[in-house]
Amino acid sequence: MEQVYQNLNSILAKIDALCKEKGIDSKSIEIIGASKFRSIETLRALSSQGIVTVFGENKVQEFNSKYDENLTWDIIGQLQTNKVKYVVGKVRYIASLDRLSLAEEIERISAKRNVVQKCLIEVNSGDEECKGGINVNQVDEFLNQLKAYPHVKICGIMAVAPQGIGEQELKKCFQKVAKKFSELKCIEPDFTVLSMGMSEDFLTAIECGSNQVRLGRVLFGDRP
Ligand SMILES: *Cc1c(COP(=O)(O)O)cnc(C)c1O
Repeated sequence: MEQVYQNLNSILAKIDALCKEKGIDSKSIEIIGASKFRSIETLRALSSQGIVTVFGENKVQEFNSKYDENLTWDIIGQLQTNKVKYVVGKVRYIASLDRLSLAEEIERISAKRNVVQKCLIEVNSGDEECKGGINVNQVDEFLNQLKAYPHVKICGIMAVAPQGIGEQELKKCFQKVAKKFSELKCIEPDFTVLSMGMSEDFLTAIECGSNQVRLGRVLFGDRP
């Protein structure tokens, strides 16, 4: 665990320095532990420190096997419609809402359980065909369609940047998503979360306006 705490301190120092330099309020940045393959013991220990207290899981099966109601969880990976029933009401955000059929199922289950499920729209910042997420240009229309679902509350945007692109290109991707986010933030009262940035690119993401970073390897070390 010592190593994880050291990693966290170094991450916090980097974020702090960047925020000071750029005039960003560092307290507005939330760090989520991207916790795939990490043990529940590790997550409990980290959470008890009070800094990283939310964990993003990719797979429903892994989420289910780790689930502890005393921790806070997000689903950050592709979510199959038939698995919605395992997460609604148990996770803070479903951060990978990328299609109407998924929203429809979240609505159906949430209504049945009498809960409102908070979600983030997953945006494909690099326009790659293979990745999850909708195109930035489709967000407005998607949001309008989602208004038909009173038990689905849209709280912002999650984006994953394409791998292996240059710093300039990366910035362009993040800025494109950030622009859409600030636009919507002005007109959508619940729009508060811009989730961009992982181990390789979290500082760039913060510089571009992200207020939530999802950190795996840089926090926990290389994945087993
Ligand atoms: C695994 C994962 C992360 C964290 O990745 P690292 O590069 O290890 O920081 C963030 N977001 C999503 C959606 C992930 O699947």
